[in-house]
Amino acid sequence: MKSRAFLPFWVLLWLCWLCASAVAAGLALEAPSRTAKGDAFLARAVSEKPVHTFRFHWQGKSFPVQAVHAEGLWQGLVLLPVDLDAKEGKGRLSVTCVGEERQNPERVGRDIVFFEKKRPVQRLTVDKKYVSPPADQLERIRADREKVRAAMADHLPQRHWSLPFARPVPGGVSSLFGVRRVFNGQPRGTHRGLDLRAAEGVPVTACADGRVVLTDDLYFSGNAVYLHHGEGVFTAYLHLSEISVQKGDMVRQGQMIGRVGATGRVTGPHLHLSLLVQGVSVDPQPFLAPAPGPTEQ
Ligand SMILES: [Zn+2]
Repeated sequence: MKSRAFLPFWVLLWLCWLCASAVAAGLALEAPSRTAKGDAFLARAVSEKPVHTFRFHWQGKSFPVQAVHAEGLWQGLVLLPVDLDAKEGKGRLSVTCVGEERQNPERVGRDIVFFEKKRPVQRLTVDKKYVSPPADQLERIRADREKVRAAMADHLPQRHWSLPFARPVPGGVSSLFGVRRVFNGQPRGTHRGLDLRAAEGVPVTACADGRVVLTDDLYFSGNAVYLHHGEGVFTAYLHLSEISVQKGDMVRQGQMIGRVGATGRVTGPHLHLSLLVQGVSVDPQPFLAPAPGPTEQ
């Protein structure tokens, strides 16, 4: 009789432990089940228990995100990229968290399937120095790349961005992200940004709050402004005629940062907008507020 009573007691304890772990595991992860190569996606972690920092794990890297307490839950939002040239057909996203009551982080995860979008070919004619740069410019081009790399290493752990991003100019799209470019008959890679219609001199405004991390005249990009919106989300505004901010400035969404121009490798005045998420160029279009009027294509 004694042993029969003893057994249910331990079963009960075991059940209690199971229940406790289910409560402690009150951690949820929201993310899309499919994402196009070349797009970024939004992932959200939600915890019922206090959390200081969520850590999202994606494609071999870990991205810490400060938790925000709202409506009785701790939440963390992150934008994560899928490279346009991703070889894999899917990725595994997971999240862990470290909080006051969590010494042993739990992990929840899900698979995200990658799919291809159609990427048309675009033929353009530009000054031949932008197709085959002269030898004396190669060092400058290398130095430009290094400046951009250094700017992208900026550390801004608070999220200053929110969606959608404000349009930097009112005009619609003139060239899509991911278009394969042929300059003067020679293939020159892929267009890793979004071209927006705008006349020379039109004010260019910040897509979101952030910090100016680079302003310079770059060989291919012309006059360029790079902004960091926090947690690894950057935007870049290229081919400007004029730059009206300085490195280190904090800017607000909608604040003027320069004017549209035709500097660098261009066929005419327009704004090239890049969105760089965790170091990867992705399509800005899905995150932009809709264009006013009938100019959007
Ligand atoms: Zn462009």
